[in-house]
Amino acid sequence: MKGRFLVTGGAGFIGSHLCDRLLSEGAEVVCVDNFFTGQRQNLKTLSPHKNFQLIEADIVKEVPAPGAFAGIFHMASPASPVDYYKHPIETLRIGSIGTENVLKVALEKKCPVLLASTSEIYGDPLEHPQKETYWGNVNTLGPRSCYDEAKRYLEALAMAYWRVHQLPIRLIRIFNTYGPRMRAGDGRVVPNLCIQALQGKPLTVYGTGSQTRSFCYVDDLVTGIIKVFGSEHIGPFNLGNPTETTVLQFAKEILRLTGARSEIVFEPLPQDDPQKRKPDITQAQTKLGWTPQVTLEAGLKKTIDFFRD
Ligand code: NAD
Ligand code: UDP
Repeated sequence: MKGRFLVTGGAGFIGSHLCDRLLSEGAEVVCVDNFFTGQRQNLKTLSPHKNFQLIEADIVKEVPAPGAFAGIFHMASPASPVDYYKHPIETLRIGSIGTENVLKVALEKKCPVLLASTSEIYGDPLEHPQKETYWGNVNTLGPRSCYDEAKRYLEALAMAYWRVHQLPIRLIRIFNTYGPRMRAGDGRVVPNLCIQALQGKPLTVYGTGSQTRSFCYVDDLVTGIIKVFGSEHIGPFNLGNPTETTVLQFAKEILRLTGARSEIVFEPLPQDDPQKRKPDITQAQTKLGWTPQVTLEAGLKKTIDFFRD
């Protein structure tokens, strides 16, 4: 993709891979991030690139956007439950005020904006697998609501800007994504279990481990993001890998791939932890020709190598 793009949250896990891809396709990238949950080391290979610029700023205060842009990718937001449990007010402000600041910049620059929503807007889903038409089952008062409701508001706000201002928006609902550059200690299941296995420590499975997730490798996700951006569709699009696994099976797979002899220990299930999650990606397949290509085994091998290093 050619042109000059603004990426909020470009120092994060997914954002940094997106910046990489844009640069490799010949684009210029301006990354706005305040390292709230991102990491400087994610930008190690990006920073020296002549077409990459980092602007350190908190999008809740301001979204600096010098010059013209062909588009904006709005990725900034804590994503790990542990991060947003710790920072519920900030999470709500980033999803609401931060998102509106981004939409105003898009309006001023007259450019399309893609916004990262999440499978969490489906809450603890009563429909399985989840289609984009499902309205969700969110506990508005629970500990996850700061994230779920912030993202539901993000979707509502983006739709309002489209209806009132005809702002070209693209909405994606990202399902559990993993890969290199996840933050060690961000509390998500992938870094937790990989690092525990590599250190020969017990693997922590919450609840009985019968809850399910469907894990998508980050390269596949970034391909989907680029396809949605380049399409004529507002969305929302579910972007995720429909291969579903229980958390217990997932822990066993990590043991197999690392060769670790750690035991599995069971810890309490966090409140409102969704019991099952699997995207229906028919829309992305038929409208965008997008299907994830990387198997869980291949993606996990790369991720384990990353954490080993
Ligand atoms: P991440 O925490 O690694 O990255 C988020 C980035 O946003 C970080 O670099 C952080 O510093 C930055 N940021 C946060 N608040 C900011 C602020 N106020 N101003 C400027 N920058 C700020 O998370 P991620 O996993 O890369 O997720 C990226 C996006 O994708 C998020 O919007 C998240 O909600 C969404 N998402 C991710 C997943 C997943 O599985 N990783 C699933 C669903 C949705
Ligand atoms: N989980 C787990 N052990 C951990 C971390 C998480 O069993 O050390 C579980 C968690 O309860 C959830 C699933 O793994 O059922 C995925 O959790 P994660 O925090 O990665 O993301 P979520 O899908 O909940 O946003």
